[in-house]
Amino acid sequence: MALRQFLRRETALEGRPIFLQGGRLPLFRGVAQPEGSDFVCGWCRESVLAENILPRQLWDLTLGCFRCAGRSVFPNRPVGSPLGRNVGTPFPRTRVVVRTSPIELSSGVVYSSVACADAREKELARLAAPLRDLPSRSLAGPRVLLELVERARMAFRPLIDSDSHPGAGRSARRDPHRQRFLVERVQASAQSFPHAIDIPAIIELDLVVELAQAWATHPSWRTRIKTLRDPGELSHGILEMAAASFLIAIGNDVGPQAPQERHRTADLECVISAADVLSLEVKVPRRHQWPTARSLTHDEAVAVVNRALGSAGTGPGGQLEPGTSGLLVVGGYHVPLDEAALLRDVAKECLTQEHSHISAAMVVGLATHSAGEAVDGLVQVPAGRGMGCAIIHLVALNPFYTGPIILRARESPDDLRDLPSFGEQRQLLPGGPAWEESGR
Ligand SMILES: [Zn+2]
Repeated sequence: MALRQFLRRETALEGRPIFLQGGRLPLFRGVAQPEGSDFVCGWCRESVLAENILPRQLWDLTLGCFRCAGRSVFPNRPVGSPLGRNVGTPFPRTRVVVRTSPIELSSGVVYSSVACADAREKELARLAAPLRDLPSRSLAGPRVLLELVERARMAFRPLIDSDSHPGAGRSARRDPHRQRFLVERVQASAQSFPHAIDIPAIIELDLVVELAQAWATHPSWRTRIKTLRDPGELSHGILEMAAASFLIAIGNDVGPQAPQERHRTADLECVISAADVLSLEVKVPRRHQWPTARSLTHDEAVAVVNRALGSAGTGPGGQLEPGTSGLLVVGGYHVPLDEAALLRDVAKECLTQEHSHISAAMVVGLATHSAGEAVDGLVQVPAGRGMGCAIIHLVALNPFYTGPIILRARESPDDLRDLPSFGEQRQLLPGGPAWEESGR
């Protein structure tokens, strides 16, 4: 028998679309989807108002009970929480009497008020902006660089103003702190402008500041910024934000995973529908936190991927535990395209039957593309050369994956295709049109 949950009573008009029972039948019924809960009137605690409904399938609706005339609510989506890409046509603010059969919700499709869907669209647009509207600023003079340092200070004030955090996080004590390093490089570039400027550092700091400003509106930011004092946490946190913003920019709905009761929380979740949620765990190997001159060998790549798979907790109770579809993100800074391709190819070899719940491994590299020469420890770029930030993303599908989520290929959107690293790539996470239209 399905689990019964009691809806919250509505005690004053709260402005949600209203659905009134015209008889004893439920107002909503989930079909062709995993078993959900029956939601019962919060007043009489007897009438089932919505039957077989999954968590986060209905949002921001008021349901009226035929039996007792009381009104109960499905609450609004918490700010910052993904809604899912498979959202049915939202209900306008209105009043409907359902007389005959229940409104059927199939395959985890999400229904919400127009206000709820619009609010998430606005959040997604803000989070995607750093990677969708790639900032292009002209380096007219050292003032631009000093302004960038000031913007970084505003966005990361607790980090830059405080001393290094004693190593309690992901990194060893001696690891340098990437944020302070970038600020120092940009300051040095301002002093030696225009003879030698560190273009990769400038572009990276600019992107990081844009990401921080976009994610500062998320409720998790206050907690997050405190952990970023640790060098390893910073490298991880920035890549996590970049990966999430990137996935959103190409049409997914991604957010930090809310704390779970019984197991460790994955870094991110990609919500396709209420039935299909992909947990994403981001690993940034130490080797890929700083550029190294020596290129990655095959054996090193195997070690990197296996360590990432091992620490991603693919066993019971782990971040990517069995029973939930997962995706491993191996991230890095300044990962050349050939190394990213090597990591992807090696991931195909490392994914085995024991990872049958891991849908894929994705290599995400934050890179800058610019041609330059090293001058006194800084990089000089001839005037007029193209430069900008690039995100490399390569996906290795797991042939042993047995979960329900079908990752499908999709061309990168136009606004990303112009970047050199995007030339032949295809998008492999579901995006674009609603998931239910893919003939599942
Ligand atoms: Zn009732």
